[in-house]
Amino acid sequence: MMTVKHPIKIKNGWLSGVRKIISPHFDSRPSQADISLLVIHYISLPPEQFGGGYIEDFFQGKLNPETHPYFQTIYQIRVSAHCLIGRDGRVTQFVSFNDRAWHAGESCFQGREKCNDYAIGIELEGSNEQPFTEVQYQRLAELTNIIRHYYPKITEDRIVGHCDVAPGRKIDPGQYFEWTKYFDLLKESQ
Ligand SMILES: [Zn+2]
Repeated sequence: MMTVKHPIKIKNGWLSGVRKIISPHFDSRPSQADISLLVIHYISLPPEQFGGGYIEDFFQGKLNPETHPYFQTIYQIRVSAHCLIGRDGRVTQFVSFNDRAWHAGESCFQGREKCNDYAIGIELEGSNEQPFTEVQYQRLAELTNIIRHYYPKITEDRIVGHCDVAPGRKIDPGQYFEWTKYFDLLKESQ
């Protein structure tokens, strides 16, 4: 049995002690007992810019198309993730882990489609052009271990990138995401 050092707990699918911003972009999972995959993503809005709060707006369906030309192309898209880890390591949760967030899109893992049905999605604020921050790896590792404590079907071989479940369509978490560092931190923070 893994012991959780970090004080964060999960209750009804929600982390305690982290910022909560409710996204309307979710629905029920076919089976909560089926939660068995973790998908890592990156996002930045506008692309390559950090910290403006636009990801939070986007996941709430509140992105203002007048703010930036790029937003005009995406503001009507209804997506979300369970959690976002900002450049400063701040964790925000948008959707209960017990519900289905809309992050993976058309996807397939080991022959099984519709990954959103059984996956938890975590977004790192980042891009394919800039390295992630150290504190993001720390928070991601802590968060992963907490999630795995409550959802033990997410074994290490079932932690993947969006690129792995939507090959040819998605590249995140991209060339800068250091999988070895992440998996080493997972072992340290257990
Ligand atoms: Zn993604």
